[in-house]
Amino acid sequence: MTSLTLPQSTTAAVALSGVTKVYGRGDTAVLALDGVSLDVAPGEFVCLVGASGCGKSTLLNLIAGLDGISGGEVAVANGATPGLMFQEPALFPWLTVAANVEVPLKLRGLPRAERRARVAELLDVVQLGDFAKRRPHELSGGMRQRVALARTLALDAPVLLMDEPFGALDAMTRDLLHDELERIWSQRRLTVLFVTHNVREAARLADRIVLLSSRPGRIIYETRVDVPRPRRIDSSEIAALAAEVTDRLRSEVGRHGQ
Ligand code: ADP
Ligand code: MG
Repeated sequence: MTSLTLPQSTTAAVALSGVTKVYGRGDTAVLALDGVSLDVAPGEFVCLVGASGCGKSTLLNLIAGLDGISGGEVAVANGATPGLMFQEPALFPWLTVAANVEVPLKLRGLPRAERRARVAELLDVVQLGDFAKRRPHELSGGMRQRVALARTLALDAPVLLMDEPFGALDAMTRDLLHDELERIWSQRRLTVLFVTHNVREAARLADRIVLLSSRPGRIIYETRVDVPRPRRIDSSEIAALAAEVTDRLRSEVGRHGQ
């Protein structure tokens, strides 16, 4: 026997090794990511922070397999397809809330009765049980993002990739969704890689914050967030940590601005 399978706990849920991404070619080529290496442990909540244009979305797209890497390696444990969520909920406007959440279940070929039960459960999870028959335009921005979250959860993906999912929401709605996401993450033991340019949001949510430099994106700093949960975004501990990360980010942006 030459099997060297490691125990699950030591295998990264997402493993990036020297990931490089170049857009275009020749004179107009853009080096977006330069040798990004990062392991995300199963069940870990990692926030990726960096200035606009530093390659955060690019990195998520590469992990999701939406675009090809130019160098290095990307591996998701067990070859699982990650769930994806963006700033725009991208719901089907002509479908009800329930039907939107049902889409991935249909694509997965679940029988009708099972789909019904799953949709009801997922709408409960995101606290939209009473809104099943509404259409997206009847909902607030926060509610639409809850629908998008339920739809993503319907994939049963162990890894969730979130690209500034709450970036368009007001602060109070965002606070609520932070609480909800944290609850769902811990109950379902999800692995989350969450992109934001909001350092406080990162400190509120993350087990670990990873900072990307301005283009080309490289990991320049990372820190564990040892603040016990539940956390409050306006607590002094979160504010202090956010200030520290902001300082790092500011010196990085300043360095590139010169
Ligand atoms: P972020 O999400 O951190 O704001 P992106 O990953 O969207 O950054 O973009 C990183 C860099 O790559 C930017 O300079 C952007 O202009 C460039 N870029 C992104 N997508 C493409 C593309 N399809 N073609 C060419 N350049 C791109
Ligand atoms: Mg982006």
